[in-house]
Amino acid sequence: MADYQAPLRDMRFVLEEVLDAPAQWARLPALAGVVDGDTALAVLAEAGKLTAASIAPLNRSGDEEGCHWQDGAVRTPAGFVAAWRAWAEGGWVGVCGDPAYGGMGMPKALGAQIEEMLNSANLAFALYPMLTAGACLELSAHAGEELKTRYLPRLYSGEWAGVMCLTEPHAGTDLGLIRSRAEPQADGSYRLSGNKIFITGGEQDLTDNIVHLVLARLPDAPSGSRGISLFLVPKRLVNADGSPGARNAVHCGSIEHKMGIKGASTCVMNYDGASAWLVGEPHKGLAAMFTMMNYERLAVGIQGLAAGERSYQSAAAYARERLQSRAPHGTQAPEQIADPIIVHPDVRRMLLTMKALTEGGRAFSSYVALQLDAAKFSEDPLERQRAEGLVALLTPVAKAFLTDLGLEVCVLGQQVFGGHGYIREWGQEQLVRDVRITQIYEGTNGIQALDLAGRKLVASDGALYRLFSDEVHAFLDAADPALAEFTAPLAAALDNLDGLSVWLLEQGLRDPREIGAASVEYLQVFGYTVYAYLWARMAAAAWGRKDEGDFYAAKLATARFYFARLLPRIHSLSAAVRAGSATLYGLDAALF
Ligand SMILES: Cc1cc2nc3c(=O)[nH]c(=O)nc-3n(C[C@H](O)[C@H](O)[C@H](O)COP(=O)(O)OP(=O)(O)OC[C@H]3O[C@@H](n4cnc5c(N)ncnc54)[C@H](O)[C@@H]3O)c2cc1C
Repeated sequence: MADYQAPLRDMRFVLEEVLDAPAQWARLPALAGVVDGDTALAVLAEAGKLTAASIAPLNRSGDEEGCHWQDGAVRTPAGFVAAWRAWAEGGWVGVCGDPAYGGMGMPKALGAQIEEMLNSANLAFALYPMLTAGACLELSAHAGEELKTRYLPRLYSGEWAGVMCLTEPHAGTDLGLIRSRAEPQADGSYRLSGNKIFITGGEQDLTDNIVHLVLARLPDAPSGSRGISLFLVPKRLVNADGSPGARNAVHCGSIEHKMGIKGASTCVMNYDGASAWLVGEPHKGLAAMFTMMNYERLAVGIQGLAAGERSYQSAAAYARERLQSRAPHGTQAPEQIADPIIVHPDVRRMLLTMKALTEGGRAFSSYVALQLDAAKFSEDPLERQRAEGLVALLTPVAKAFLTDLGLEVCVLGQQVFGGHGYIREWGQEQLVRDVRITQIYEGTNGIQALDLAGRKLVASDGALYRLFSDEVHAFLDAADPALAEFTAPLAAALDNLDGLSVWLLEQGLRDPREIGAASVEYLQVFGYTVYAYLWARMAAAAWGRKDEGDFYAAKLATARFYFARLLPRIHSLSAAVRAGSATLYGLDAALF
């Protein structure tokens, strides 16, 4: 596999030239003194060096070695401990963390691009810092002062790690079914008992302590999802001086053997009357957990993007070197025994699809991250409210669409290699195995689609959708007519999505089955339309500089490919949406 190189030029283009992020940072007082365009580029360059030099080289060996479980202890693959230390010592775990507790206070728009690099370098390793950063966000938003002071500085510094413990053997998607219980104690703490499965990083050898954020029920809890509370359960109890002390009753029963991300431990966790502390209010744990889950959902979407980027880099390099057959329009490399495969139309189709989806995905994830920053840091309540609405609407799209396309891109990368993509040597098969989980965890992509169509579209009576639609209409109204080759298909795609959304709203109110029947394809139409918006913005940014070099010419050529070859997918998807639920229920369950 080609060595990983962070796509710094493209990241800069997205942040500065397309989204104008430095202007937003300058406007928001919480960010103004922390970051500007130059600082951002320096930070990205540093992250690029570290991920390429220290973390990417462990990707293959980590996959081959996997994690080891013995007597409740887990050993991560060789090199992971040193890599964690390097990442932690650089302050990267807390890069977007609250400065009052030791975080660096950087904007999420920057954090999202750092996450992309880390995941491209090594998706399995990236899970440990990602979950830790998510746990910090959760504590920051919902924990009391004492818990924050005790835990946040050590999590941001990477001395300790954080994990998220929701799933139980009988409760995956439906968390209302969980059975773990917490009994209140006289000193205000709780004793938590239960059994969790599939806990990423539940046990590992990277840190002295692991902070488990666990969903469980109080004795008086109502049944279902309204009776769930959130608890902090440390692996080691914390001494008065803040150092890790006695072992808590938290044990790893085993680890799973799985298809990919083998360097990330996936643990069965047993809590046997473990000391626990309530985070947030009783019975409101699931709502609180959504702070972490929404953050993780964008992060998981970025995993899809990141795997695709790595696959693309390798496939593009291979296609320039691999010699097979002659070009259909005549010999291109007469000095060679055959032409490089990049001359063939189908190989170009695959590479351009990968490039268009990856660059579109980078613009999309950075755009959502910029909205997260506005939601968190803006001092204008209206701007905050609007940004929160856009984040709520777009988070399920980011999680599901970026990961669905992540798999598509990785499979295309594997295909560019022919048989050499199927064998281990070139690393493409690992990317396909690693990226596959991103469509499943953090709520399956089917559940993301239900969230978009049901909770975000229908339950808000279209109000959240209109935030997005109004923004794109405003962009189209102000667009330079010279850009019509990009804006005309965008306008048509938006009209289509506007119409589809109204149709789904009506159908959903009539029969709730219609929402689930349409939701996956609706999310995909939504995703391609969002990409069309961002591709039009990228084309607009490149247009004025099209004579300034290859980078801008390549942007425009890729935009043309997106509009001509990928956006038309919305037509068949829209037809599937409008087909409704009748055919899904046309077959009796017994006949499957
Ligand atoms: C490697 C790995 C790491 C993980 N890490 C963590 C972790 O760190 N912490 C944690 O708590 N969990 C973790 N998980 C669990 C993961 O989040 C769940 O597996 C996932 O949410 C799906 O739950 P499930 O496996 O029980 O599937 P189920 O809920 O049984 O779903 C099975 C199928 O039914 C569909 N389905 C279910 N309900 C509905 C519905 N209402 N409407 C339509 N379709 C529905 C689903 O989309 C899916 O296709 C991890 C899992 C894996 C494999």
